[in-house]
Amino acid sequence: MTKTHHEPRHTHAHVRTPLAVSVPLVNPAKRRAIFERLRERNPNPRGELEYTTPFELLVATVLSAQATDRSVNLATAKLFPVANTPAKMRALGEAGLTPYIQTIGLYRVKAKNVIALCEMLLDEHGGEVPRDREALMSLPGVGRKTANVVLNVAFGAPTIAVDTHIFRVCNRTRLAPGADPDKVEQKLEKFTPDEFKPNAHHWLILHGRYICQARKPLCAICPIVDLCEFRGKNFDPVPDRLRPPWTT
Ligand code: SF4
Repeated sequence: MTKTHHEPRHTHAHVRTPLAVSVPLVNPAKRRAIFERLRERNPNPRGELEYTTPFELLVATVLSAQATDRSVNLATAKLFPVANTPAKMRALGEAGLTPYIQTIGLYRVKAKNVIALCEMLLDEHGGEVPRDREALMSLPGVGRKTANVVLNVAFGAPTIAVDTHIFRVCNRTRLAPGADPDKVEQKLEKFTPDEFKPNAHHWLILHGRYICQARKPLCAICPIVDLCEFRGKNFDPVPDRLRPPWTT
């Protein structure tokens, strides 16, 4: 069995929440069971952004901020055949890029950022996407979450990017409660057993997006219902059309 590190010595490690109330983490056995259940139902989870290279993933992730993966995929299906390298994207320029992405929210600022980041990749990184968080975060439009996604998904690093879905799941279940995404990320990094880290981002994001939904979690079909500490569970019946394939 893979050895976990930095496990808490007891089950009542406390953190501060926005309400300044102490919230205990789940204990190590429950944490492991949560990941085992998610893995059992979806052994090879994949993100929903379409890409074939680290550069395409980087651009798609920058474009996906405050937008749906579907809207990004529709745009990049036409964009990437024309510009799938920093040099080709830079040659397109802001004016050439804009028509491809104008169905995506915040497209003006994203067009500016994508062209600027291509210039930096060409000028400072030999046209390659760097495998280093600091270097990634120095690129225009790339924050910690995007850097973590690229490191994890493109390069297989054991980073766990925390988005709104993961933030919600970690607080509801108490897998890694925290007042902001950085605190949740720190706890996930510290307490997630190594064997689950490479896929933890995808398992948690898919769980939050399709089952532990913001307004009405689908607790009636939740594979970790008996392990979850959330007090506001919803047990309304779930129609078949809302059931993701990996829950059946
Ligand atoms: S039981 Fe409900 S609240 Fe808890 S993780 Fe599952 S869907 Fe979310």
